[in-house]
Amino acid sequence: MRIDLHAHSNASDGTDSPAELVAAAVAAGLDVVALTDHDTVAGHAEAAGAVHALPEGTRLTLVPGAELSCVVGGVSMHLLAYLFDPEEPEFARERELVRNDRFRRGEAIVERCRALGADITWEQVRRIAGAGSVGRPHIASALVEAGVVATVSDAFTDEWLANGGRADVRKHETDPLEAVRLVRAAGGVPVFAHPGAVKRGRTVPEQVIADLAAAGLGGLEVDHTDHDEETRAHLRGLAGELGLLVTGSSDYHGGRKVVRLGEHTTHPEVYEALLAQASGAKPIGK
Ligand code: AMP
Ligand code: ZN
Ligand code: FE
Ligand code: FE
Repeated sequence: MRIDLHAHSNASDGTDSPAELVAAAVAAGLDVVALTDHDTVAGHAEAAGAVHALPEGTRLTLVPGAELSCVVGGVSMHLLAYLFDPEEPEFARERELVRNDRFRRGEAIVERCRALGADITWEQVRRIAGAGSVGRPHIASALVEAGVVATVSDAFTDEWLANGGRADVRKHETDPLEAVRLVRAAGGVPVFAHPGAVKRGRTVPEQVIADLAAAGLGGLEVDHTDHDEETRAHLRGLAGELGLLVTGSSDYHGGRKVVRLGEHTTHPEVYEALLAQASGAKPIGK
């Protein structure tokens, strides 16, 4: 079983459509893939349709999910949420609040980039993002188009879009304790995404992770490209102490990141334990 519990489509800042992501998951030999777009479930229906349309004999299970933008003590963090009821109104409202603020913030970031001499426009960013939940990777793509930086990654520096960078503007983000509560209330399972991704900026203190665990956090995403071996070993120990599941996933973004689908995976027993905690939605299988 090859299980990848974190992937983005063009419903947020990935480059594959949800149907293309399903095809890519099959091509990568995955048995299970989770669609976890930033603050949106807009890709779920298309991805589910693509799974249902797979030829006989091709088995793939889609886990509907999302990746929520959170902030605690001024530190941004991402919370993966699996198998929640997408219609549950309180959680749906919070996702909408974050998505809407991404527009205000995206336009403000474009203004800063322009003031810093980058010839990009908000129209261009809207074209790149299409119907997707607008984020810095779309602005990074605009900076690549304008020849300001060579790659999307190169735009995530203090000079441009990194957390606290010259052109960075904050968006509304949810308190993670509240987010954990919202996900659980919608029948979902919350997992802390890349908790040790130091290259993205400051990370959340362990006391906060312990508080989140006490509040209902289900797991830590340990095996992730942004974690070195030492960080993984440490997080594995912490998960053990706190009684949290340990997941692994690619955080695939199509062409916007170099990571491949299935580059990191989750153990089948962990996946089963995660399913056992979920009551808001069911995995979608062929
Ligand atoms: P936003 O949601 O608009 O705040 O943008 C955050 C997204 O930018 C993350 O989910 C990643 O996809 C991407 N990102 C953050 N840091 C980096 C980085 N150093 N290199 C490439 N992409 C990054
Ligand atoms: Zn992303
Ligand atoms: Fe993330
Ligand atoms: Fe992600």
